[in-house]
Amino acid sequence: MNTIGNILDLPFSSLERALVADGLRPVHTKALWGAVHREATTELDQCDEFLPPLRRWVADGRLRLEIPAVAADTASADGFTRKFLLTLDDGQTIETVLMRFSGRHTACVSTQAGCAMGCVFCATGQMGFVRHLRPGEIVAQVLHANRALAASGARLRNLVLMGMGEPLHNYDSVMTALEIISDTGGINIGPSRISISTVGVVPGILRLAEERRPYGLAVSLHGASEEERSALVPASKRWPLAELIAACRHYCEVMDAKIFFEWTLIAGKNDSVETARRLVGLLAGIRSHVNLIPLNPTQGFGGTATAAQAAREFSHTLQEAGIPSTIRQRRGIDVAAGCGQLRAERRRN
Ligand code: SAH
Ligand code: SF4
Repeated sequence: MNTIGNILDLPFSSLERALVADGLRPVHTKALWGAVHREATTELDQCDEFLPPLRRWVADGRLRLEIPAVAADTASADGFTRKFLLTLDDGQTIETVLMRFSGRHTACVSTQAGCAMGCVFCATGQMGFVRHLRPGEIVAQVLHANRALAASGARLRNLVLMGMGEPLHNYDSVMTALEIISDTGGINIGPSRISISTVGVVPGILRLAEERRPYGLAVSLHGASEEERSALVPASKRWPLAELIAACRHYCEVMDAKIFFEWTLIAGKNDSVETARRLVGLLAGIRSHVNLIPLNPTQGFGGTATAAQAAREFSHTLQEAGIPSTIRQRRGIDVAAGCGQLRAERRRN
């Protein structure tokens, strides 16, 4: 019999159809799904709880369980961040980060190998686009993080799509992966604990609203005028700031939701008090929270992070205008925790 693909690519209903097409009763799907997604098994042929027909099906190898190899596993000195570099079947490497905030575990996963959006300060943008990840390659990162946590009896609670790549440029695979990841009989991370971070792919934001996708949304802004933003984010030329803000406003109304705006603070580029004031004007009427992230230096960009005092002033200006804002700690900078940085570093060595 021919092998027909990777189990991790399939939502529950598709897996059930595949089993039934192979002559099994639908009832076997639950056992297989639980072993793969809830228990995060790596060896299907070792699952003693499977009934004989399911065991025979596994032995036939109709579907594979593809587990990426671990090329690197690095912990930060403070013990709060662990970063994995995973190797896919074609040799591409992607990053998955595991973070711990006040006892809760969050995974940050990649959605593409490389990225086509070319943000000048981003290590992934600097490497260019390689390819989209398949749903199973996104799911595999979450399973890997849960396996890493299992030793301490913990499980993932939150998920952010803030690793390598632009999630809304790989919309269909990302939505399939999130359907699998939020399934209550499997990995079971609730939709409200999942955040999609986008550089501002306007059609993708509108589609999320149209399809009423129940996930959190973060939009990476980095500039409060078209000129300021497109110097850092070339994708702004394709989806201009005014269109992006209109899409965000529409999203908030339709979804009755708040948007998180991500802002990488770069000294002298986008960190002045005037810029903060312009940002206040831009976000008027949008329920928002602004996350300020001091730049992580990368090889391909000469900018430096905003100094702590200037970051506080920027944040203060927003807060005075009623926009909540947080300066994010640069956790795990010693494991090159910026997007795409571990891979970029290993390629240089
Ligand atoms: N493509 C999506 C998600 C991945 S990038 C997006 O751009 O939103 C996740 C976040 O990391 C983005 O907000 C991005 O701007 C930020 N980021 C990338 N490189 C960075 C760096 N060197 N320093 C600080 N933040 C960075
Ligand atoms: Fe792509 Fe996001 Fe990096 Fe921009 S910041 S290049 S969109 S991964």
